[in-house]
Amino acid sequence: MTRAERVSRVLADAPTSCQNTLRQAFSGSASPRGAIKAQCLACTGYLRAEIASCTGFGCPLWKFRPYQPGTDESDDGGRA
Ligand code: SF4
Repeated sequence: MTRAERVSRVLADAPTSCQNTLRQAFSGSASPRGAIKAQCLACTGYLRAEIASCTGFGCPLWKFRPYQPGTDESDDGGRA
């Protein structure tokens, strides 16, 4: 499978609310924070609550993950 095919598959499987975040990451136009958000969304099956409560303490992205309790992103009205 080529990268383009894999990216298309990931986008097709992602909820609409996450697709812009993923597209920007895949295209290289995302900020580093946006790329981390995309990775965390994909990692959890696009479940923000799972990112907030992530117990992947060995993950290098853990301290940088979005939706951490007490942050502005933790109360974003349900948007991904
Ligand atoms: S911080 Fe957690 S949700 Fe994000 S990529 Fe790592 S393990 Fe997955």
